[in-house]
Amino acid sequence: MALDGDEVRSAASELLDAGAHAPLDAMRHSAAHVMAAAVLEVFPGAKLGIGPAIRDGFYYDFDLPRPLTPADLETIEERMRAQVAADHPFERFEEDRSAATARLEAAGQPYKVEIIRDLSDADGAVISFYQHGPFMDLCRGPHVASTGKLGPFKLLSTAGAYWRGDETRPMLQRIYGTVWETQADLDQHLWRLEEAKKRDHRKLGRDLDLFSFHPESPAAPFWHPKGMALWRELEKWSWQVRQDGGFDEVRTPAVVRKELWETSGHWALYQDNMFTLDDSDHLSGLKPMNCPESMLIYKTQLRSYRDLPMRLADYSWLFRRERTGALAGMFRVRQLTQDDSHVLCRDDQVIDEVNLALTLIRRQYEPFGFEPRFKLATRPEKKLGTDEFWDMAEGKLKDALKAAGTPYELDPGGGAFYAPKIDVFLDDALGREWQMATVQADYQLPQRFDLEYRTAEGGFERPVVIHYAIYGSFERWIGVITEHFAGAFPAWLAPVQAVVIPIADRHVEYANEVRAALAGAGLRATVDDRSERMQAKVRDAQGQQVPVMLVVGDRDAEARAVSPRLRTGEQSQGVPLDEFVTDLAGRVQRRELWPQPA
Ligand SMILES: [Zn+2]
Ligand SMILES: [Zn+2]
Repeated sequence: MALDGDEVRSAASELLDAGAHAPLDAMRHSAAHVMAAAVLEVFPGAKLGIGPAIRDGFYYDFDLPRPLTPADLETIEERMRAQVAADHPFERFEEDRSAATARLEAAGQPYKVEIIRDLSDADGAVISFYQHGPFMDLCRGPHVASTGKLGPFKLLSTAGAYWRGDETRPMLQRIYGTVWETQADLDQHLWRLEEAKKRDHRKLGRDLDLFSFHPESPAAPFWHPKGMALWRELEKWSWQVRQDGGFDEVRTPAVVRKELWETSGHWALYQDNMFTLDDSDHLSGLKPMNCPESMLIYKTQLRSYRDLPMRLADYSWLFRRERTGALAGMFRVRQLTQDDSHVLCRDDQVIDEVNLALTLIRRQYEPFGFEPRFKLATRPEKKLGTDEFWDMAEGKLKDALKAAGTPYELDPGGGAFYAPKIDVFLDDALGREWQMATVQADYQLPQRFDLEYRTAEGGFERPVVIHYAIYGSFERWIGVITEHFAGAFPAWLAPVQAVVIPIADRHVEYANEVRAALAGAGLRATVDDRSERMQAKVRDAQGQQVPVMLVVGDRDAEARAVSPRLRTGEQSQGVPLDEFVTDLAGRVQRRELWPQPA
C-alpha cells in the first residue's frame, strides 16, 4: 500500500554521511569535504549542514550570511583546486560524544551538534571525524587517501534546502557539484546535463502543446488535446496488458470518510500528505491510494478459495498534498492516476501472481524499448512482524523472481516496514535511472480489513493482497517518456501520427481524402492547409516531431498515391495510398518502435 518508510530512511541516511555505495562515492563525498573547506575560507562563519555523495555527484548545505552568486561558485572552485594541488591527506580520528559535541560547539557548528545529539547509542559511543588540512568534519567516511586523488570536478548549481527537509527549520543554501575519474567522463556527464535540459518535459510539454501548469492549481497538469491523445494510447495499452493478464476493472470514490483511513492506517501515518475536507458532519479525505477501497469491494461477498485470485485494476484519480514549491513538473503532482493493480489471492498463489506481475511489467514496457531491472528490497531495521514472517515473504518474492527467469539485485533493508517488495528500474536514453513500478505482497492490509475466504475444508483463511502499478502514475510516466524520446514519440504514441501537406490550393481536396483514409484506419492525421510555403509546413511538422509527413502534389493526386517523408529524413515516392495506410496502421497496431530515432 506504499505506506513505506523510504522517505524516512533516505532522510536518516543523508544525515549520517552514509557509507560508500557506488565506486565513486568515496571520491564524491571527499569532494564535498573539499568544497565545505573552500566555503569556510570564503565565508569564515559558515555553518555546515550535511554533504553526502549522491548519484553522479555530491552536495553540501550551508547556512551563509548572504545568497550565493555564480561568481562565488568560481571562487569556491578555485579554492578547491588549491586544496587538490596541496594534496592534503584525509585523516580519521575519534572522540567520545561529549568531547565531539564540545569541539563542534566551539567551532560554531550547531547543525553538527544536533546530528550528534540525535545519534542513537546503536550508532556507536565514539564519534568519528575526518580532517584534511585545517578542515575537519563529523563523518563516517570513507574517503580517498588525499585531496590530490580527486578527479576532474565542477560545481553546477545552488538551491535552497530546508534543514532536515523541514519547512519550519532554517533554509540553507545547497551547492551541487560533480566529480569524475577522467576528464572524458566529466565532459560526457556535462553533455548529458545539457541534453537533459533540452529534453526537459516541462519545456517539451509546452513546445509540443501536450499540457500546461497554472498557479490556479499548483502542481497539477492541465491536459491539452495532444496530451490527452497520448494519455489515451497509454491507457489503452495498459488496459490491454491487464485484460490479457485476467484483470477486471473497478472504480472507487475520491471522497472517503476518515473511518476508512483509520482502518487502513493512513489517517495515523499519512494524513499530512492527504487533503482532508469537512463534509458538513463528517471528516473525509481525498484518497491518496486506491488499496483500501478495493478491500471494501472484496468484502461485499463471502469469497471462496475458488474465487481467488481476484485481480482488480483501478484507474481512479488520486490526490496527494505534495509541497508545491518545487518546480518538478510531472515528477511531483498533487492529482495523479495510476494504472493500479490489486490482486487478492491465497497464500499458495503468491509466487504465481508475483511472477505474473513481473511478466506483465516486462510486456508493458516493451513497446517503449525499455528493459526493466529488478531489485528485491528486504526487511528494514524497523519492521512489523517476526523474522519467520520476513523469511517466508522474502522467500516468495525470490521464488517468483526465479520463476520469471529474471536476474535481480538485492536492496538489503529497503523493504517497507510491513512487507518486502520488488522495485523496478529503467534506464532512459541518457542513461539515467528511474524507479518505476513496485510489486508488494502485503499480509497487513487484509488483516486490518479482516478479509477472509472460505477454504476447501470449510474453514476460513486470510487472503494476501499484491499491489502494483506498472507505469506508476500516468503523469510521471509521461514525464519520463517525453524526456526519453525527446518528444519524438513512436508512431503508435504520437498525438498526431501523420500530417498531410498539399503543395498548392488545388491539392487540398486530395489531401482531405488522404486524411480521411488514414482516419478510417483509426490513425490520427491532420491536413496543413495554411497558406504557408510547403517547406515551412514541413519544418513545422518536423518541429512538432510528427512521425510522417505526406506532401501531395499533382502526380500523387493523379495516381492516388502519397510520397511519405519520415521525421528521420527518410523519403519515398509514389506509394499507393491504400498500401501506405495499411503499412502505417500495421506499425501502430503492433506498437513498433518506429520511426527509429536518428
Ligand atoms: Zn564526511
Ligand atoms: Zn495498493
